[in-house]
Amino acid sequence: MAIGIGLLGLGTVGTGTAEILLSPQGRHPLLGEVVLKRAGVRSLDKPRNIDLPAGCLTTDLEAIVKDPEIQVVVELLGGLEPARTLILAAIANGKHVVTANKAVIAKYGEEIYTAANKAGVYVLLEAAVGGGIPIIKPLKQSLGVNRITRVIGIINGTTNYILTQMAQHGADFGEVLAEAQKLGYAEADPSADVDGGDAADKIAILASLAFGGRIRREDVYCEGIRSISAADISFAKKLGFVIKLLAIAERPDLEEDALQLRVHPTLVPKDHPIASVNGVFNAILVEGEPLGQVMFYGPGAGAGATASAVVSDIVHVVGLLHSDQVIQKLNPLLGCTHEHYSKILPIDTLKTRFYARFLSRDLPGVIGDLGTCFGQHQVSLESVVQIGLQDDCAEIVVVTHDVHEANFREAMREIEGLEAIKEVPSILRVL
Ligand code: NAP
Repeated sequence: MAIGIGLLGLGTVGTGTAEILLSPQGRHPLLGEVVLKRAGVRSLDKPRNIDLPAGCLTTDLEAIVKDPEIQVVVELLGGLEPARTLILAAIANGKHVVTANKAVIAKYGEEIYTAANKAGVYVLLEAAVGGGIPIIKPLKQSLGVNRITRVIGIINGTTNYILTQMAQHGADFGEVLAEAQKLGYAEADPSADVDGGDAADKIAILASLAFGGRIRREDVYCEGIRSISAADISFAKKLGFVIKLLAIAERPDLEEDALQLRVHPTLVPKDHPIASVNGVFNAILVEGEPLGQVMFYGPGAGAGATASAVVSDIVHVVGLLHSDQVIQKLNPLLGCTHEHYSKILPIDTLKTRFYARFLSRDLPGVIGDLGTCFGQHQVSLESVVQIGLQDDCAEIVVVTHDVHEANFREAMREIEGLEAIKEVPSILRVL
């Protein structure tokens, strides 16, 4: 029994996917049942580094999602449109869908899964988060019986590469970004990566799977890494931390169904398992009861790695179709059936440690005044260090104990009004 595959997109991931499909030897035996029927692209004239079966390439993507010889449509276009419309059309035509597109799922997941559940087809997305790292199926299946308390991810390779380079070479953000763009690690328009949007799309998907509710993408609190300076990376290092862009989803109170969802640069203690994830690598740490911690680590992008995840989804569908051409009922271990929205707590309610760096004029009693302002707002301090001098100003770094974000922000508003405080160049959260 042959299962017809239609690829939408033959770029980096599409080509990697086609390569695996066209060379099944030594891989999963079910790949022997897969036939690559069509591959849809924008331009037929573009040079392609792959030998496709004759007549496979087309610019008519609508024909692919309607083709009766295709059972699985693999969306590897990226972006919101025409990806959303074509996925919905494929579902309406009874095709199973595999996608690597976190943006379309984070924004239109509700519409897509509602349609898929009604049509009795699967929409699988292992490649959408963490590239080649298996994390979607583990969350749905292997870890599903745990009460998940927290998911912490380094899930954007571009920002992790930039922060790693800044740490290793003492370089500034702009310099490293330009270098990353030259090497192809960052896009010409890097905003989706460096402003945290890509990581926010991905943590919305992970949170939905880990905590079993739908997530509105706009509910994810998001800060990027543009304001991180070489000075902060160096001070953090002196204090025993590395700075990482973390995406965090957690349920602060197991008795409540409310979640904290956030993406922001974070000081991570250097002995924490996620602190040593460097360069373009990704990692996702899942904490649950009774499991404890488990960490997934590997290549978060790249043609081969991402294609490995895409084809694992294709093989899964082929396995399900193997015994029965028509799926009577969706398997709850693979489908996505929850319909309620998770309650998301505002960032003000977060309880966390903070790092703040102050430039202060040389006036008597500054450190005492800082301590008093923080104390009046129930912000207790773990350490206060005068770390250097900049022109005529002292550079003071403060690390707090766990405090409520709202209290910390109120204290900071007061501190910014103090005569001795010239500037607060950075405020970062600490894991
Ligand atoms: P890409 O290299 O830009 O390839 C996109 C492909 O889609 C190209 O073949 C392009 O056609 C085709 N395409 C785009 N818009 C089209 C349109 N309107 N009509 C027809 N064809 C169209 O993208 P990619 O890096 O492979 O990424 C694909 C997806 O995988 C994205 O959702 C991305 O987020 C996800 N992903 C990528 C990676 C990675 O390492 N690259 C990792 C994880 C997930 P032409 O070839 O004719 O231009």
